[in-house]
Formats: sequence, C-alpha cells, structure tokens
Amino acid sequence: MSREENLKKFYEWVKRMSAYQMALALIGIDKQTLAPVDGSAFRDERTAILSGELFSIETDPEMAKLRKELLADEGVTGDDRKMIELYDHEINKVLSVPKDEYVAFDLLRNESYGAWLKAKNASDYSIFEPYLKKVIEAQKKMYSYRDSSLDLYDQMLDDFEPGMTREKYDVFFNRVKERLVPLIKKVTEAEQIDTSFIECEYPVELQKKYMDYMLEYLHFDKSWGYQNETEHPFTSGLCGNDIRITTKYLPERPMSALLSTIHESGHGYYMHQVAEEYDGTIFNWGISSGMHESQSRLCENYLGRSAAFWEANYPKLKEMFPEQLKGVDQEHFLAALNASEPSLIRTEADELTYPLHIVIRYEIERGLFEGTISTEGLDQTWDAMYEKYLGIKSPTARDGILQDVHWADGSFGYFPTYALGSAFAAQFVHAMRQQIDVDDLLRNSHYDVIMNWLKEHIHKYGCRYNADEIMRMATGEPFDPDYYLDYLEDKYTKLYHLG
Ligand code: ZN
Repeated sequence: MSREENLKKFYEWVKRMSAYQMALALIGIDKQTLAPVDGSAFRDERTAILSGELFSIETDPEMAKLRKELLADEGVTGDDRKMIELYDHEINKVLSVPKDEYVAFDLLRNESYGAWLKAKNASDYSIFEPYLKKVIEAQKKMYSYRDSSLDLYDQMLDDFEPGMTREKYDVFFNRVKERLVPLIKKVTEAEQIDTSFIECEYPVELQKKYMDYMLEYLHFDKSWGYQNETEHPFTSGLCGNDIRITTKYLPERPMSALLSTIHESGHGYYMHQVAEEYDGTIFNWGISSGMHESQSRLCENYLGRSAAFWEANYPKLKEMFPEQLKGVDQEHFLAALNASEPSLIRTEADELTYPLHIVIRYEIERGLFEGTISTEGLDQTWDAMYEKYLGIKSPTARDGILQDVHWADGSFGYFPTYALGSAFAAQFVHAMRQQIDVDDLLRNSHYDVIMNWLKEHIHKYGCRYNADEIMRMATGEPFDPDYYLDYLEDKYTKLYHLG
C-alpha cells in the first residue's frame, strides 16, 4: 500500500476508536450525574461489552503492523508521526503483558479496592496492608514485561508525566521542602485569619444563582459546554465543542462549589481550545495530568483567588449574601479565601500546605519501589512524615494513610503530578503577565482574553508537544520551580504579615 493509503487506514482506525470513546465518555458522565442508581447493573454490563470492543479495536494486531510500517517510513513526519508514536506507546503498554496476567491484575485491583474501602470504614490499616503489598508486587511484574531503559519507578512517573524522572522530581521536591516547611511553620505561628463568614450557611439555591453569574463572568459559554452537579466534581467532554463540567454545593462551605467550578472550567477550557483538527485523537485526550492540572490550578489559584478577580466579583457576592458578609470588606474576604492551616486531608488542603501532602506520598512511593520503605508499619511511617513536614498527626488511619484510593488502585507515580500542576502554572502566569495585563483584564470582566492567551501558547497544541517542550515555547525557559516557590513565599509573607 502507498503511504497515503496507509495513513488513511490509520486515521480511519483512530476515528473508529473515538466513536467508542465518545459513547463510553457519555455513559460515564451520565453515570456520575443524572443516571438513576437502580439501572446501574444493566448499564454496567453493557458498558463492559463496549469497553471490550474498544479494547479489541485498540489492540488489533493488523493495526500494530500498520503503525510499525508507518513509523519505518521516513516520509511520515510532523503531526502524523507524533500521533502514531503516541498511540503505539500507549497500546504497547497493554500489549506487552500476557493477557491472563492482565486479567488477573485487574481482578487483584478490584479486590484491593474492596479491601481498602473496608479498611477505611473500619479505620484499620492492617486490613489493607496485605493487598497493598500484592498490588506493588503485581505492578513490578507488569512493568517487567515492558521494553524500557528506564528503571521501575521512573517508568511509572513517565506514564503520568512524560519526561519526568526521579532525578527531576527530587530536585523539585527538595526545593519545595527547603522553602515551604519553614514558611508553613511561620504561618502557623502567626496571628490566624478569621474565616467564619465563609464557613456558615449560604442557601444552596442562592449559591446556584451566584454560580450562573460566575459562569458568565468566566465566559463559560452554553454553546460549547454546560455544568451539572455530582458527588466528586470532574470534567469530561466528547469533543472541543462539547465540554461537561460538574460541581457540588455544600450549604456551609460556599467557596467550595465556586472554586471547584473555576478549577473544572480550567480543565474545560483546555479541552475546548485544543486545535479542532485534533478532536477525537490522542492529542486531545492524552494530555498529561501535570499539564491538565496546571491549567485548572492556574484558573483556580492564580486567577480565582486573586484580588483583581474579586474586585470584579465581590460586590455581587456581597449584594446576594448581605447577612453573611455583613461588615466584611473585600480585603478580609480575600484573606479568608487564601488562609492557610496544616490539615490532614489532601483534597481539602490549602494552596500553601498542599505540596507537602504530595511530598509525603512521593517519598513513600519512591521508598516502596526502591525497597527502603515497607508496607508493614507504613501507617506509622505516614504519621511520622506528617508530623515532620506539617506538624500534625492523624488520630485515625481513615484520615491518615487510608484517605486516598490511588494506591489501592495500583496508581503509583500519579500523585507527584498534582504538585507539578501548581508549579507549572506559576511559570506560565509569570510569562503571561509580561505580555498581557492580567489584573486589568480580570477587573474588567475580560476573562476570555486570558483564556485566549492560554489557547495560543498552551491549549491549542494538546499533547502534540510534551510539558517540557510547551514550557519552553510558552515561557522561553525550562521548568523552574522557583517561580512557584517565590509566588507562595511572597503571597503568604504579605498575607500573614511575616515581615
Ligand atoms: Zn483538576
């Protein structure tokens, strides 16, 4: 076959997969938002059949041969070559493992999830420990089938953030520790900020009204996306022009739905603004978690918690909630929104203490795979690290080592990307501020202009380039964690008058 014919066949295969992916995405969104619970057994069974069909298409040996042929052809270049490489890389991860072992691993993950849930409910780590051990051993085996020059944990890190290694993460996290541990200590000892007026009853119906106003301010347009409610907020989509974001309203924590909406809209904008010709391909859905989080956190923290943002939006909030915000000026509101205090639960941590939660998980994962940390007594290791880095200790395993599902699921190497997101974002914002007047745009309701900068410098590429390449293109420099640490130090020194 000619090159053109081969490419045509390749893109037909991509489109066929994307049809199944679209159906599965829609079923997934529906399941987490509107679908009645009692229909779940019926739906899950059919969904599994669709997933199986998609798996067969993905792993079609004829297509593996076609990709190999195309990659051997030097005339295949640019977007075509990159796309074939990415698909090939992803699918080989699955194909490298003998099928019966893959099935057994899936089963083990299910059991492990069950054990984790039971352990969490009983707040008893010993129920989960044997499974954690088995999952780690199984993961070691799964990775051993791969043909890679990287060592085990580096391969895991690379799966979630291509190009990142232990060596790079070590540099990053050591800097984080060096600079943030003393800063957090100073903040803890400083006079604390009153947050009571955003931790009281805000009727949900009114919160929703304010949300309509906020979505308009965010230029989150109904022609290409909409918002639903869910238990655990997420963003999904079918194509760039069909984006679904979700939120959850808490009557006594009004800022939760607001900030999570700004966060999810950041993910949504990313998916919306990838070049249209990449719709339905790995260039859109294969974006690394670090890069995706960088955009959602950029929106949530660097824009949504800024003074200029609330200069535009605080008057309306105060008008709608006059009782709750009586006597609270904008400066006090902003201080409450940014207040920091070491806490036990990662997902509820503030901007300053959050990266330390990740440092702890990274050091444990690294130790588990290097053999310097054991699953036995890991709950105590966990507690000791919380005490060392954040000065607190969980009274229960439920709020300690059992709080996250990731390890039960076999996802090692994922946590570190959560910290990268905020750090990438700081460097992007620094570059952006040199080109456009971000504060002025926020003050004057031109959020769309900021989103457009992100589109032109980051979003439109999808994962055509990796994070390192995009960082260099957008900011002119390789990733430098000091932008992030400078930002945090400056912000919290001022906020807590540390002088
Ligand atoms: Zn996110």
